[in-house]
Amino acid sequence: MSSDKARQLNQLAAEIVNNNVCPELAQSAKQLVMGDGNVDADIVFIGEAPGKNEDEQGVPFVGAAGKFLDEMLLEAGLKRTDVYITNIVKYRPPNNRDPLPEEKTAFAPYLDKQLEIIKPKIVATLGRHSMEHFLPGMRISDVHGQPKRKYGTVYLPLYHPAAALYNGGLRQTLIQDFKKIPAVLKKIN
Ligand code: URA
Repeated sequence: MSSDKARQLNQLAAEIVNNNVCPELAQSAKQLVMGDGNVDADIVFIGEAPGKNEDEQGVPFVGAAGKFLDEMLLEAGLKRTDVYITNIVKYRPPNNRDPLPEEKTAFAPYLDKQLEIIKPKIVATLGRHSMEHFLPGMRISDVHGQPKRKYGTVYLPLYHPAAALYNGGLRQTLIQDFKKIPAVLKKIN
């Protein structure tokens, strides 16, 4: 099963390159950052776009925000190898600017396909850009940490670890929200 999923994900990555998705980003970035972790995971985390470290290593969330993400996963009793991690936009935007609406739109069908392949029970969105794709019109300050069921999938909107990294209050909120994950998973199972 998992080798077939890995094969399909590799094929999807090749499609992104062959279809010339966001050619300007593809030009300025070092490489495509497709995703990392367990393709059979019950939970997938979705950030915004790769940063400098991610662009260099080809792996999402390996910089400061990624270290914080790893710490919070541990608080939730999870390791990185238990989950799958990806981003909406899969090339680094220049100077780490926010992804543009047209870049998010261009990658959206590939993100949806990626989730169809992995079939997670929970999609945890990290930050506003990721939340807006799945839960349009919601405000992260109102709904963070509250699971939302939609068409058989549970979405868990979370703040972005980079936003919480140096903001004490937000950091505690994010840690508390991560600690809810085991109970959300238990309820689904
Ligand atoms: N921030 C993101 O949104 N994604 C990454 O991969 C790294 C930092």
